[in-house]
Amino acid sequence: MRAVLIFCFCMCIGVAQGGDEPKSGNHNCTASWGFYGHKRINRMAVFTLPPELFTFYKTHIEFITEHAVDPDKRRYAVDGEAPRHYIDIDHYANNGESPFVTMPKKWEDAVAKFTEDTLTAYGIVPWHLDVMVKRLSSAFRDKNLDLILRLSADLGHYTGDAHVPLHTTVNYNGQLTGQYGIHGFWESRVPELIAEDWDYFVGKAQYIETPLNFAWDIVETSHIALDSVLNFERNLTDQFGSDKKYSYENRGAVTMKVYSEEFTRAYNASLHGMVERRMRKSIHSVGSLWYTAWIKAGKPDLSILINQSISSKLEEEIKKNNEARKSNKIKGRQHDD
Ligand SMILES: [Zn+2]
Ligand SMILES: [Zn+2]
Repeated sequence: MRAVLIFCFCMCIGVAQGGDEPKSGNHNCTASWGFYGHKRINRMAVFTLPPELFTFYKTHIEFITEHAVDPDKRRYAVDGEAPRHYIDIDHYANNGESPFVTMPKKWEDAVAKFTEDTLTAYGIVPWHLDVMVKRLSSAFRDKNLDLILRLSADLGHYTGDAHVPLHTTVNYNGQLTGQYGIHGFWESRVPELIAEDWDYFVGKAQYIETPLNFAWDIVETSHIALDSVLNFERNLTDQFGSDKKYSYENRGAVTMKVYSEEFTRAYNASLHGMVERRMRKSIHSVGSLWYTAWIKAGKPDLSILINQSISSKLEEEIKKNNEARKSNKIKGRQHDD
């Protein structure tokens, strides 16, 4: 089994390994869009909501923002968490047929065709989004503040992940094409350097009739972008050569090899705003799925929840998750943040 811990850390901050297989390490890792991206997506999604929901979410915006990365933290403690963050849809590509044709949209049909073990092994994000909308809807119906906040934060996370092209492929970190490190490069390093300039006002949330189909559309759009994600990196690598592709940065006491700023900016330019577009689309999708869950719950009046705080039980649980994360044992494989 490959040693994965340092690799995971590298994804988080977009550090390159220069194509070498990583050696074992002992780093904390969480992010996919990075901490920055996930938090920004959840936070800005609040501003897509209509007034009845906006007031509620705005009051709890710090929780929704802060807990945008909880699902990644849970991967240290919870079996079965990892596959919720991705789907390697190209695993199902067969004789030139699109995997989106091969793969049944509905979970039961997909299980019947491929078995639950296989689906779990290659990721379940589109089905999990659908499940999360249903759970959130039921939490709205019960006016259960803990659940509404937690599920909203989680749903925001998984939705963000589904918008990342490298969350839809077996070649999730360029490991099959000599582009090792591209995962964190695309979703963490590019935003880390450039995202402050981006526009995050994305318009109003929309009601989604069939969240499952919507989730599949997200995955398919992500997957269509995958060729560009890989090809532009390869072309630029040829142009730059590895001395210009990488640079060294001090991160605390450690000097790390990272994708150089010049290379990162050139990559972002060659993608013509793709990373920003996927992030903006994530924000809009998150707001729309929250809004949809609320509509499907019958538009409950949430005003009594505005001044409530989360329960001590939930606070305790959050503390436990944080501790589990510190123990640094990861369940499942590593690309799946
Ligand atoms: Zn990721
Ligand atoms: Zn994730």
